[in-house]
Amino acid sequence: NQPLSDRILNMSTSATLAMAAKARELRGEGKDIIGLSLGEPDFNTPDFIKDAGIQAINDNYNSYSPVDGYVELKEAVITKFKRDNNLTYTLPQVVVSTGAKQSLANIAAVMLNKGDEVILPCPYWVSYSDIVKLSEGVPVEVKTSIDTDFKMTPAQLETAITPKTKMVWFSSPCNPSGSLYSKAELEALAVVLRQHPNIYVVSDEIYEHINYTGKAHASMAGIDGMFNNTITVNGVSKAFAMTGWRIGYIGAPDWIARACNKMQGQITSGANCIAQRAVITALNADPSVVKFMIDEFKVRRDLVLDLLSNIEGFQTNTPEGAFYVFPDVSYFFGKTLRGKTINNATDFSLYLLEEALVATVTGDAFGNSNCIRISYAASQKEIIEAIKRIKEVVS
Ligand code: PLP
Repeated sequence: NQPLSDRILNMSTSATLAMAAKARELRGEGKDIIGLSLGEPDFNTPDFIKDAGIQAINDNYNSYSPVDGYVELKEAVITKFKRDNNLTYTLPQVVVSTGAKQSLANIAAVMLNKGDEVILPCPYWVSYSDIVKLSEGVPVEVKTSIDTDFKMTPAQLETAITPKTKMVWFSSPCNPSGSLYSKAELEALAVVLRQHPNIYVVSDEIYEHINYTGKAHASMAGIDGMFNNTITVNGVSKAFAMTGWRIGYIGAPDWIARACNKMQGQITSGANCIAQRAVITALNADPSVVKFMIDEFKVRRDLVLDLLSNIEGFQTNTPEGAFYVFPDVSYFFGKTLRGKTINNATDFSLYLLEEALVATVTGDAFGNSNCIRISYAASQKEIIEAIKRIKEVVS
C-alpha cells in the first residue's frame, strides 16, 4: 500500500546483489558459504593508485569538479583510448561518471524515448534491461546459446531490427558469458548496422583488459563507419580493482556527450573528486601494471573449466575474457536432487546455495534461463572447495 511510483515498483532488484544479500544472511546464521556470485576482483587497488588518492586528499581536492570530469582526467581517458584502442576522442567527446553504471543510465536517459527498442544480445549484463526500461525503452532480447559461444550473429541482429530500433547494447568481453567479439565478428555486425544509420551502439568494454586471447581488444567504434554511431563505455572497476571508487567514462559523438553532461549536471554534479584524481594516475599507467591479476584470473579460469568438466550435466564454452564461466545446466531441469525438484536455473542456483553452500547467480537474471554464472573472482582454494561441494550435491 505504499504510494511508490510505478517506475520503482516495476523495476527488478539486481539479482547479483540479491544473491550477495542472501549469502550474507546465511553466513550470519553461521553457514560456511563460498561466494562465487560477485562481479568484483578479489584484489586490492594497486598501491600507486591508492597513493594518488591520498595525495589528492592532502592537496585539498574537496570542491565540486567540472560536471563531466577534471580536464586532466578527460585527457588521461583520451590517452587511454588512443593507446589501448586506437580511438581518437577529443575533450568534448568524453564524460566521466559515477561508475560505468551511471554512464549507461545517462545514455539511456538522453537517447531513449518511450517505446524505442534496444536490442540486447542475451546473455547481457544484469542491469541493461532495467536501465533501458527506466527510460521507457523496450528491451528486445536476442537469444544466443553455447553453440555460438553466446554471441549474436549478423543474421540474428538483422532479424531483430524494426523501425523502432534505436540502439544495440552489448559488452565484450561479456558479463556473464566471458565471450568476446573478435574484430572480424564486429565487422560482420557492422555490415548490418551500416545499413541502419539511425541505430546507435553501446559498446561496453569494461572488461577489455581481462582478455586471455593474447590478441588486441577490438572496439566497435574502431570499425569502419561506426565511430559516429558508437558510444564506448569503460571504467576502472574491473581492470584496476576499483569497484568502490565509482569511476566510469564514455567516449561518444559530441552531441551525445554534451547531453550526458547536461543530465548528470542535474543528477550528481559529477563524480567524486578524490576518486577522479586517483584515476588520472591509473589511466596514465601502462596496462601491464595489472597483468598479474589477468594472469591469475587465467589460471583460475582453466581450473574452473577443468573441475567442471568432471561433473556430468555442466556444459561450458571456453570464456576468452572477464572472470565468469556460464555453464549450461539444463541437463538438471526436471530432475529431483536430494528431494528437491529442479525446474529451472533459478531453482538450481538456489539448490547450490542451500545444499552446497555455494553462491552463484541464475542465468535468468542475464536473459538466459539455461545457465548459471560462476564468478572466479575467488581464491583457487575457494574455487576447488566450492566445485568439490557442487559435485557432491549434484552427483
Ligand atoms: N558493465 C558491465 C558489463 C559490468 O559487468 C559492470 C559491473 O559489474 C558495469 C558495467 C558497471 O561497472 P561500474 O562499477 O563502473 O559501475
